[in-house]
Amino acid sequence: MEVKNCRGCGRLYNYVGGGNYRNLCPDCISKLEDKFQEVKRYIEDNRVANIKQIADDCDVSPKQIEQWVREERLVFSDDSPIAIFCQSCGAPIKSGKYCSNCKETVSDQLSQLYGTKPIEQKTKRTATAKMRFLDK
Ligand SMILES: [Zn+2]
Ligand SMILES: [Zn+2]
Repeated sequence: MEVKNCRGCGRLYNYVGGGNYRNLCPDCISKLEDKFQEVKRYIEDNRVANIKQIADDCDVSPKQIEQWVREERLVFSDDSPIAIFCQSCGAPIKSGKYCSNCKETVSDQLSQLYGTKPIEQKTKRTATAKMRFLDK
């Protein structure tokens, strides 16, 4: 068993590991979970609120809101002004870590790893055809 200082209230607590929140005592975690429900309801009622507004009205830090978004626990509507950014290309997204393009790229790379050569050959053939045309 490990004893840690709570990042939220500063008290010592018995660290049991795991969970969504690091370095927080059980008290602070349950308070934060209440906050999460509050923020979630707030977003449903105020679809066009920005992060600062949510942070002010729900008394929660913008960083915490962003963390929930990254964890895909909070999802904003399409008309919401809130955007976070893809960690790979910087495109604005509504939740998670990557935009749909980058998610696709990742799965493309995975399928190429498992040997789908035909795509490569096709590109080569087109290139040769073009060269022949230029030679004329
Ligand atoms: Zn605490
Ligand atoms: Zn991206």
